[in-house]
Amino acid sequence: PTVAPTAEVASTCCYCGVGCGVLIETDGRRIVGVRGDPDHPANQGRLCSKGLALADSARSARGRLLHPEMRRARALPREQVAWDAALDEVADRFAAIVAEHGPDAVAFYVSGQLLTEDYYLFNKLAKGLIGTNNIDTNSRLCMSTAVAAYKLAFGADGPPGCYEDLDHARTVLFAGSNAAWAHPVLFRRLEAARAAHPGTRWIVVDPRVTDTAAMADLHLRIQPGTDVALFNGMLHHLIWEQHVDPAFIAAHTQGFDALKQRVRDYTPRFAAEICGIAEQDLLTAAQWFGESPASLSLYCMGLNQSSHGTDKNLALINLHLASGQIGRPGAGPFSLTGQPNAMGGREVGGMATMLAAHREIGNADDRAELARLWGIDRVSDKPGLPAVAMFDAIADGRIKAVWIACTNPAHSMPDIGRVHEALETAEFVVVQDAFAGIDTAAYADVLLPAASWGEKSGTVTNSERRISRVRRAVDAPGEARADWRIVRDVARRIEARLARGRGVEKAGRSANGDGGIGGTDAVSFASRLFAHDGVEAVFDEHRLLTEGRDLDIGGLSYATLERDGPQQWPYPAHAAAGQARRYTDGVFATPDGRARFHAVDYLPVAEPITARFPFQLTTGRVRDQWHGMSRTGRVPGLATHAPEPTLTMHPGDALRRGFADGELLRIASRRGALVLPLATSADVSPGSVFAAMHWNGQMLNSGGINETTIGAVDPRAFQPELKHAAVRIERA
Ligand code: SF4
Repeated sequence: PTVAPTAEVASTCCYCGVGCGVLIETDGRRIVGVRGDPDHPANQGRLCSKGLALADSARSARGRLLHPEMRRARALPREQVAWDAALDEVADRFAAIVAEHGPDAVAFYVSGQLLTEDYYLFNKLAKGLIGTNNIDTNSRLCMSTAVAAYKLAFGADGPPGCYEDLDHARTVLFAGSNAAWAHPVLFRRLEAARAAHPGTRWIVVDPRVTDTAAMADLHLRIQPGTDVALFNGMLHHLIWEQHVDPAFIAAHTQGFDALKQRVRDYTPRFAAEICGIAEQDLLTAAQWFGESPASLSLYCMGLNQSSHGTDKNLALINLHLASGQIGRPGAGPFSLTGQPNAMGGREVGGMATMLAAHREIGNADDRAELARLWGIDRVSDKPGLPAVAMFDAIADGRIKAVWIACTNPAHSMPDIGRVHEALETAEFVVVQDAFAGIDTAAYADVLLPAASWGEKSGTVTNSERRISRVRRAVDAPGEARADWRIVRDVARRIEARLARGRGVEKAGRSANGDGGIGGTDAVSFASRLFAHDGVEAVFDEHRLLTEGRDLDIGGLSYATLERDGPQQWPYPAHAAAGQARRYTDGVFATPDGRARFHAVDYLPVAEPITARFPFQLTTGRVRDQWHGMSRTGRVPGLATHAPEPTLTMHPGDALRRGFADGELLRIASRRGALVLPLATSADVSPGSVFAAMHWNGQMLNSGGINETTIGAVDPRAFQPELKHAAVRIERA
């Protein structure tokens, strides 16, 4: 029966980087409905199928982790324990391993689905208290090449544009982005803009015929991994046909001559041959892009998840800079973040290769400033280990303990056999999650129940740099607690143990304790670094660290967000509003204010096909599921679009091998294998196969498609090549 809501709480959707505002309806106890927030600038009331099902996915406690669990030895089963016992155990084991092996013997692997405040405290615990930069995140798998390219080209991370640009663009270049499925609310906005301006052209670069590609004016169905050749070929045409913007290049950029030399070799015919497309299509794309009054590029995993992802991003940015397609309404390169708070994680520096508020590990001034702001002696100058290298280090014993929060690396990392081996080998594994059944939980020595969406508060930053509040609408089930509070309470315990070790223990109860600290430390230690008495105090500290930086939010507070709604950064003190569009004056964030061209070359995929592994595997998502399906898998209605995992193969390939639709096939790479039913479709090219990433070890006869993917990473951004592996297909 329908329950009439008694209260409504404004919050933000927990899925993709669009960051739609939602209104959560409750009966005071349970979430009974969710609708789009008409006042939120990101979606103006619209929601996609996943957002509309939020109430259904949030309502039930089925499958939720309700109590802390712990085991005394690996061979023993976990048992339910009190929070204090679990928190003490985590603090004791981490402190002991640090004392014996040094700070780099521990690591944290967190998530782009954490809130900014959760992320901030994890980062401070690792880098500010323990003294290791070994904290990385599943955002490494998602957008780290985009970050690297923004920094190399513009001098700072973050997209230049905003969602309003979708309304103004007259040429839209989707590169490795199936926005129709992955960012549906933005896609609806693009459709509306094209309907209002019929001359608007869409170019889609994608090896597959996705829903987005099917609606394109021009679909460039390139060979996987050949994007740099395509963009270099397009730039060659723009340069030699004099469609570049010499005034912009002269006034605002550096490095054009070297780039011109490089792309000289990428004649349209040569580039088109590499990409496997018609030369005329490449020329048309270049013309549409160069001649348009406003060209916008939207890109995502297809560009980023590559062993040359930074180069691909740079080659695309080169096109924008050379043609002056940036800093104006509707023009610019715009990476769409996959996760709801990948941006927030970048802002607090919650990755192994960066520090808080866009500071650099390799910059002594940045380290000294951060140490001063945190009130600690020093910040380590040794870069931490990014995701793939982190699990390698766990597997070979260099990292002894890992704390994994809000993510399921035993399913989502490439080459998961290696991750399972690592978690098996680790001395101590902590898993903090809302859901009990995730693959990674099997390895937990301590399992910490976390509050989920609708049950905790904080902020997230969406793809257009807009910070929105996430608000608690109901209590978490069982004993589950907010992530930030779990981190704080362990951090206080570790701080107390370190202080005791230094003989500086203070008497008296913490002035900031709220009853959450528990254990012996509650009465004997006043935390200096983790005195936060609530989630707002964490945000306020994060804000202080951003002042004077490119992402300055000195003028933003919970009160501002309450009063004026979601805001974009930068938003410095005394600003009347956040900044919608960056670099509008042509001044970039480099020391001399000029953007940098980067002359990049096409390089092949990390694992070319061979006679033994003759198929190119690409992976991706289906429309109505999210990542490992912890939430969306709970809603039967979301399964109707794609009821089961399949392997998609071109009908001609299937016919040649005598495979029939529905037949079980074994997909094997050099690393692992799994079995899936065949679904033939001409949406994949001959020689390629596609499988979705969502189905995991709970649902399959194996851990999922990442049994087969490869851990090869981009040399600058360390993002793995989840979009391509060489595989063999045979009857199961
Ligand atoms: Fe949520 Fe993204 Fe759908 Fe918006 S578009 S409702 S943020 S999943």
